[in-house]
Amino acid sequence: MTARILVVDDVPANVKLLEVRLLAEYFDVLTATTGPDAIEACENGKVDVVLLDVMMPGMDGFEVCRRLKADPSTSHIPVIMITALDQVSDRVKGLEAGADDFLTKPVNDLQLMTRVKSLVRLKTLTDELRLRAATTRNIGIEELLSRKLADEKTPPRVLLIDERESSYQRIQKMLRQVAELDVSTDPHAGLFQAAETPYECVIVSADFANLDPLRLCSQMRSLDRTRFLPIILVVNQGEDDRVIRGLELGINDFLVRPIDQQELIARLRTQVRRKRYNDQLRASVAETIEMAVTDGLTGLHNRRYLDSHLQTLFDRAVSRRRPLSVMITDLDRFKSINDEHGHDGGDDVLREFARRLRKNVRGIDLACRYGGEEFVVVMPDTEAHIAEKVAERIRAEIEKTPFAVGKNGATIQVTVSVGVSSVKHGPDSVSELMKRADVALYEAKTGGRNRVVAKAA
Ligand code: GH3
Ligand code: MG
Ligand code: MG
Repeated sequence: MTARILVVDDVPANVKLLEVRLLAEYFDVLTATTGPDAIEACENGKVDVVLLDVMMPGMDGFEVCRRLKADPSTSHIPVIMITALDQVSDRVKGLEAGADDFLTKPVNDLQLMTRVKSLVRLKTLTDELRLRAATTRNIGIEELLSRKLADEKTPPRVLLIDERESSYQRIQKMLRQVAELDVSTDPHAGLFQAAETPYECVIVSADFANLDPLRLCSQMRSLDRTRFLPIILVVNQGEDDRVIRGLELGINDFLVRPIDQQELIARLRTQVRRKRYNDQLRASVAETIEMAVTDGLTGLHNRRYLDSHLQTLFDRAVSRRRPLSVMITDLDRFKSINDEHGHDGGDDVLREFARRLRKNVRGIDLACRYGGEEFVVVMPDTEAHIAEKVAERIRAEIEKTPFAVGKNGATIQVTVSVGVSSVKHGPDSVSELMKRADVALYEAKTGGRNRVVAKAA
């Protein structure tokens, strides 16, 4: 895992110290000795995590953090604040400034590396999602971020898996004001509960009588429904090895007993904030992909989707020696419908046509808008003579009931011509298959329209 870490401290010796330790772990290191320099480095991009000293003359660490978090171009960069030992008030201030994590001076090596690595991992995921979101559509990442602020006020749903009463009662008390907390006192049941409920974080106590807590963590990482659920592991002092193995397994953060309330709240909040941000990005990427393969007018798949999917269906049919048929439909004299009823009237017809088409094909058939007033249906496992019957049924269904256009209740007669072709088990290709359907459609048009022509395989 290579990542670029920005170390910010006004004392050059402190910078050097952290730099050496990070370089030993093969991180790239950038350095800055003032707040404005740190901000500039972040704005120039390529910073994955910031290690930020609190006490600096001029602009202090809190202010630097606040500014980084307020700017949409830098707000996704994780910031670890380095505070003086036992300064609880500093942690609260850091939290308010939007810091993602804290380390106390003198910085412990294990803590440094695990915090940095876990934030680098999260940042990598966020970067990937940001990139996808931005390349597929110029969506406003900024808009997502501004939504985040309102989002943050909703208390997160959190599951605590903890067998020991004294321990979970203490944690319950600490989180009373900040989270909607459920407690599971049985780790096996807890796993199911985590998978079945939309939690935003799970806190796993590493003190089970009969189960390795890391086993539970790794199970959560492998289940689909808990894969992206942040896990915070609570360990006892001296359990460094367990923490390291946990981080390798994909836990997101850890706390060492005795638990400090401020620290618990800060770490929980960080995990929830990141999860919400990534969930929004993920939803937006999914929406973008959906839009990219869907026709906006009719809701059917579009040509792009057909082009990428037909080859797969064709290959599968050929290799299994199964039949496959396609039909191309083209509305008759559609131009005159547009001329008489306007473009909107034409759109009404297209929507209704798509609805009837969808109603008359099976779920496994692939119905697409091919362009304009042409539609294609791909029918797996369908012999030519069956496909011809389906096409005839659709043709009759269009002819039988007039289409409503506009708002004043006008109806018009619409007809459609259809060309059908089927896969040949011999030399054949997708383009040949489509060409035969196209030729058949042309024959249907020249033969008088409102008819089906099938090309024998
Ligand atoms: P034919 O029976 O030979 O198919 O005649 P036609 O008029 O249907 O054929 P032609 O291909 O000449 O015209 C298709 C028309 O479809 C032309 C175009 O303006 C219209 N069209 C294409 N896309 C849309 C659309 O999204 N909405 C509307 N309302 N019309 C569209
Ligand atoms: Mg046409
Ligand atoms: Mg037409």
